[in-house]
Amino acid sequence: MIRGNQVYWTDRYPTAETGPVTPTPLLTPSTLDLDGVLRAAEVVARHLPATPSWSYPVLDRRVGGRVVVKHENVQPTGAFKVRGGVNLAASLTPSEVRRGLVTASTGNHAQSTAYAARLAGTRAVVVMPTSAPAVKRDAVAALGAEVVVHGPDLGASAAHARELAERDGLRWVSPGDDPAIVLGHATLHLELFRVHPDLEVLFVPIGSGTSAAGACLVRDALAPDCRVVGVQSAAAPAAHDSWRSGSLVSADCRTRVAGLATCAGYALPQSVLAAGLDDFVLVTDDQIDAAARVLATDAHTLAEGAGAASLAALLARPAAPAVSAIVVSGGNASLEELASLARG
Ligand SMILES: *Cc1c(COP(=O)(O)O)cnc(C)c1O
Repeated sequence: MIRGNQVYWTDRYPTAETGPVTPTPLLTPSTLDLDGVLRAAEVVARHLPATPSWSYPVLDRRVGGRVVVKHENVQPTGAFKVRGGVNLAASLTPSEVRRGLVTASTGNHAQSTAYAARLAGTRAVVVMPTSAPAVKRDAVAALGAEVVVHGPDLGASAAHARELAERDGLRWVSPGDDPAIVLGHATLHLELFRVHPDLEVLFVPIGSGTSAAGACLVRDALAPDCRVVGVQSAAAPAAHDSWRSGSLVSADCRTRVAGLATCAGYALPQSVLAAGLDDFVLVTDDQIDAAARVLATDAHTLAEGAGAASLAALLARPAAPAVSAIVVSGGNASLEELASLARG
């Protein structure tokens, strides 16, 4: 819900995990505004250096315009989501720290929640489906979280995680509907726009939409003429469909691109994207793979699929903007994924 550029947040919003519920009156005004982002940036800067954003002449020539590449693949967890985790850790109440965190995820959100718990000196329980590869369980366990394997898919894991939250009083960490996470993710765009206030278009990969929502908040304040364009895989268009229809909808999620495989829209980021996002484009998984190859050759960068989606959208345009930016949001690609890129 948006009034001016203040977003009002209630924890009674429907979420992708719970499905639609009846909206209740607004509870707490949140700080989803630039001040909130600036406070999050102070927290994040205490733990993580700013990531580089620069251009590569070979890529610029291929695209036909200058492309600023924002490198979140160099984060300690391999993706920007650690920013949300760091900010979340700082926003926990003493009682939440006593009780611990719980979430369900196989990917970068799981690592970010584990990182947050370690930083806050509390426990994290991460529920993963039986299909999650051992390497993903190991990455989360290495950060000190307890991995619970439950259910055939992420929906079943999330339901179990909610039960654990209820039973053990753990703090549920939603991958999309948490203001501390949106503000933490927004710090990546604050770094970008501070160094490059002249951007015409910023392409942001979207799963739940937290990062793109953060981009809109910062753009409004620092670079109002820049267009923010969201990018999703056509094989998992729930956020796209939600944005286009102005309501939270579910959709197929058959994409190979794990970081973008959300199956329903998330209320909090969508409430910002509704007015903030300038366009939302879909690209195919094959276009994303092709973009990942371009990043490897032109930008010496190994991205996971989600991290290559922004470039896929830029390459799909008939004409390139004079100055645009892409977010290489993560680099957690498995050896199999890298091998298939090399073969392609
Ligand atoms: C989570 C994720 C995304 C999508 O971000 P949202 O904030 O969920 O929209 C994109 N890329 C990577 C690498 C991710 O881990």
